[in-house]
Amino acid sequence: MFEFAKGLLYANKLNFENGEFKILDQSCLVTLADTTISMQKNIIEKLGDKGTDILYNSCKEEGIEFTREFNKKIKSKNELEDFIIKFLMLSGWGEFEEIKKSHEGIMLINKNAPFPERYGKSKLPVCTMMRGLMAGVYTYLAGKNYEGYETKCRAQGNNMCVFKFIPKG
Ligand SMILES: [Zn+2]
Repeated sequence: MFEFAKGLLYANKLNFENGEFKILDQSCLVTLADTTISMQKNIIEKLGDKGTDILYNSCKEEGIEFTREFNKKIKSKNELEDFIIKFLMLSGWGEFEEIKKSHEGIMLINKNAPFPERYGKSKLPVCTMMRGLMAGVYTYLAGKNYEGYETKCRAQGNNMCVFKFIPKG
């Protein structure tokens, strides 16, 4: 991962200037994991499932948008997918591994994401933002709608988070 960051830095694709942090010309904001967790908990506590939907759909829309923006710089879809997975790892979302990819869907695992670990015990999966972001990424890359589901989450006591992304509509 350090090599990836070093490569970006040397190629002038990672910039820190005037209080702004950019990767490939996209502005990024570094927040503490616990701040984001606290926001999610408050939203879900107040809005329930509707809150989960809002988080998922906002992240999905944004996943589509940032993938579109990165596609202006990285033309190959395979390279783009690889770049985005590394970009999310660099951003602290844990290490993703694509397990299966077919016309029926994509299975993705994440063994060490700090987000569900710091979240604390939960009956329901908590990686809603990660699920939304990747649903957006796959929707853009495939040119058709994908929905994301988290079938196992570390916050539920599992040893990894497991996501399924299925083409719908
Ligand atoms: Zn999870």
